[in-house]
Amino acid sequence: MRGVNWRAVKWVLFLLIVSSHERPAIAQTDEWRGLTQALENLARAPSGKKLVESAKKNLKAAALEKIFQPDEVSHTVSQVKRQFNLRTGKATEERETRIHLKRDLSPTELLFDIAHELTHATFKPNWDPYDPNLTLGGYLWIELEGPGGEIDAVVSECLVAIELKSEGQRNPRCQGYLVETDSHLKVDRAKIREDLYRSGDAYSEVLARLGDERARFPLLSSRSPILQSATMGSPYPVALLRTYDELTKTACTHSKRRLEARNLASEADETSAKTQEFLKRRCSSQD
Ligand SMILES: [Zn+2]
Repeated sequence: MRGVNWRAVKWVLFLLIVSSHERPAIAQTDEWRGLTQALENLARAPSGKKLVESAKKNLKAAALEKIFQPDEVSHTVSQVKRQFNLRTGKATEERETRIHLKRDLSPTELLFDIAHELTHATFKPNWDPYDPNLTLGGYLWIELEGPGGEIDAVVSECLVAIELKSEGQRNPRCQGYLVETDSHLKVDRAKIREDLYRSGDAYSEVLARLGDERARFPLLSSRSPILQSATMGSPYPVALLRTYDELTKTACTHSKRRLEARNLASEADETSAKTQEFLKRRCSSQD
């Protein structure tokens, strides 16, 4: 985590910081060459081409390779920097997205991981960790069902798998999700959706934490997980629950500090009122 000078007039609040290690220079490596080839292969699938184009546009990255970096597991990190001006109380936001790709993937695995992660990266995160009204259920819903969420990402990989089937590209992850309709292969979105809610042993914990919000998730089940979150190594519902707890903890700590810094300036503003509301609603169990 980067250092923050809380007493400075202008300071930066990192809404989401998953990692801050330096991006290695990969331009000259085999990883880089593999990446360029994978992006070219992806663009041969019509849906893959669309993904690459919208990623370039939405992420304002003319050379898409710049947003990738090697890592232990493939995942997408979206960092929102919010700058507060303590004098005016005004906040400005800046978003940076990085796609981390697992090292040593085969060319085919790399291709499908890129399709998956580009789907996440292309959409803006449509939740705000500082939203006083954000709930676990709301977060879970957006991350699984929302645009660029987990369902969309798995559907994307499987669609690319269908489109590049004639080129011999096979995605074992999609084996159970391709159905033949009128002699055409289609992605079985309903089955992907159902499988993403399989929670195994964590089922009762997820239900208990959701409380009344469990009614929004009729597909949650204790069936053995098939699709697992790579970053957490656990079924998606429980992985998201842990991530929600982490981001809430971070947001609570930052909000408390922010309010202290604001109080030092002895001024009140709209943002402080929102921070107070956030602390009251979301941070009671964080004291
Ligand atoms: Zn994903």
